[in-house]
Amino acid sequence: MEITFALIKPHAVKNIVALQYVTEIIKNNFSVLQTKEVVVTKQLASRFYEEHQGKFFYNRLVTFMGSGPSIAFVLASKDSIAKWRTILGPTKVHKAIYSSPDSIRSLYGLSDTRNACHGSDSLESASREISIIFPDFDYQEELRKQMESV
Ligand code: GDP
Repeated sequence: MEITFALIKPHAVKNIVALQYVTEIIKNNFSVLQTKEVVVTKQLASRFYEEHQGKFFYNRLVTFMGSGPSIAFVLASKDSIAKWRTILGPTKVHKAIYSSPDSIRSLYGLSDTRNACHGSDSLESASREISIIFPDFDYQEELRKQMESV
């Protein structure tokens, strides 16, 4: 059992078809432990995307993330990190269209910045990202509960 963090980015929240499609996939594949609408302000984005500070796309990324509400999720399932990343497809939309045509990023990504959704890439990232967006969520305690319920 694993816990991961997922987020539907602003342009996909505005697209009702994308929003319904992604929400349905999430409900069918994971237990939703937490969800909320959140505006990832520049302040939040600077923590969330700390590792990308200084990169050519950084300003574009944090400006886009603050452009409207996102929907964030804490998800649990077996191998949830890899499972959600596979459903998402590659980071780069052109690659997603080519190599994973049914993936969310292929279907609803508009550009490398506006690539529809986010998914944590490791246990450490999941724990860190959840603590930024859901500061009251007790990752270790929830993980223990999930393990017990299996
Ligand atoms: P992820 O874990 O698949 O989201 O990928 P990364 O952690 O490498 O990048 C974080 C986010 O930065 C991505 O989801 C994109 O929105 C954006 N990003 C990454 N690489 C690029 C790039 O080369 N160009 C642009 N414009 N945005 C990028």
